[in-house]
Amino acid sequence: MVHPEMCLEPETEQMGIRCTSCEKRLTFGKALVIDERYYCWEHYLEVTGITPATEGRENDPRTLE
Ligand SMILES: [Zn+2]
Repeated sequence: MVHPEMCLEPETEQMGIRCTSCEKRLTFGKALVIDERYYCWEHYLEVTGITPATEGRENDPRTLE
């Protein structure tokens, strides 16, 4: 026998996951877990200290004089 409660679809957000920082609703596919807490991608980067590779282009190593 399979209980109905065991058949929740992650995409339907029925589990009610929210980002710990901004409380934005998340799907299982987008939620990132740190210490059993859920974060959206934006706050996952903030909490972990990871900076997107597209940032920080001010220092150009090939500066010409
Ligand atoms: Zn967030």
